[in-house]
Amino acid sequence: MSDRHIDTVCVQGGYTPGNGEPRQIPIVYSTTFKYDTSEDMGKLFDLEASGYFYSRLQNPTNDMVAAKICALEGGTAAMLTGSGQAANFFALFNIVNCGDHIVSSSSIYGGTFNLIQTTMAKMGVEATFVSPDCSEEELNAAFRPNTRAVFGETIANPALTVLDIELFARAAHAHGVPLIVDNTFATPVNCRPIEWGADIVTHSTTKYMDGHGVAVGGVIVDSGKFDWMANAERFPGLCTPDESYHGIVYAEKFGKEGAFITKCTSQLMRDLGSVQSPQSAFYLNLGLESLHVRMARHCENGQAVVEFLSAHPKVKSVSYCGLPGDKYHERAKKYLPNGSCGVVSFDLKGGRAAAETFMKHLRLGAIETHVADARTCCLNPATSTHRQMTDEQLAAAGIPAGLVRISCGLENAEDLIADLRQALDKVE
Ligand SMILES: *Cc1c(COP(=O)(O)O)cnc(C)c1O
Repeated sequence: MSDRHIDTVCVQGGYTPGNGEPRQIPIVYSTTFKYDTSEDMGKLFDLEASGYFYSRLQNPTNDMVAAKICALEGGTAAMLTGSGQAANFFALFNIVNCGDHIVSSSSIYGGTFNLIQTTMAKMGVEATFVSPDCSEEELNAAFRPNTRAVFGETIANPALTVLDIELFARAAHAHGVPLIVDNTFATPVNCRPIEWGADIVTHSTTKYMDGHGVAVGGVIVDSGKFDWMANAERFPGLCTPDESYHGIVYAEKFGKEGAFITKCTSQLMRDLGSVQSPQSAFYLNLGLESLHVRMARHCENGQAVVEFLSAHPKVKSVSYCGLPGDKYHERAKKYLPNGSCGVVSFDLKGGRAAAETFMKHLRLGAIETHVADARTCCLNPATSTHRQMTDEQLAAAGIPAGLVRISCGLENAEDLIADLRQALDKVE
């Protein structure tokens, strides 16, 4: 499908039925698979043949959906995970060991920040966080001899910063390590990080890919471009024998194109078991079938909403890279020429009290900790996700108490703006 447009891959990628087979992808709800001889099954366990034996490792429905996302991102192999958190953890932990080090953009999803800063630190993995706006010199200075991966988000949740993917890829490659990019907010419809040098792409499919607030999930896509063997001393897990798989050397046996995902499946998924259910994968695929249509509308609504908000007297500032004058507008023109996403944030002059009044009076926008839903939703970090912090601490963290994040859904833009207007009218 690689010669087809992304719209066509959204609709038809990953699965082509044969004569008389189901038009829609079948949900293979089976934990296990039957074989005629133990020899047949043994070949699967030895990774000598491909096939299915247990749904914790691989399932046909999940693989069809992973293949679609793989084609959308322009990768060579992909796997679904039970959540976006699992996708980012697996992508990192597949190559980073105790005693190793990660360089990460500081502007990332809070859950991923906690994962790297707290949980992976307990596993003996160190991290250095750098500003997404750092110079090449500052970025290069963050590397250590034990650095094994670089991490960032195309459009960061919730800060809405845009990553300079080429710069981060260049620094990663100069130090012989891959760049992992979480592409959740942009989706492959608006940005394909592999084309800008990213080696591994991850998603929380819970967001735009699902798009209807239905199923939690994640995905990892490998570009197949990173040469593990050329950097073998840094990646023993891929380049030396895996004794738990009869001494297979993943990078030798599966090459650049397949080593990363094969190891991630046969080691991490086997041992940590964060599998996505085939039912969730089916819902995810329904979302993907309209991703290209929905993203255009999310962006259109986002643009209309920020144009309204930025002209409103009760609004202090608006963040949205699609807005001329936004700090990330120029970078967005390069990496996100067709639009960014439907998530916008703005700061109310009246601070915390104004944000509370505004959100209470919204009729279409529901108060949720979710984003990227077909239905508009909003959140005030000061009174929810960051409520343990004082106004002073919030200001220092770059999250003013009056900040509201709105995820613009697929409703009519005039109705959304009318809703925002009447809620803003209620603010003192
Ligand atoms: C939500 C989110 C995650 C975590 O995904 P879950 O599916 O909630 O586990 C990771 N990265 C980004 C950018 C997200 O928005």
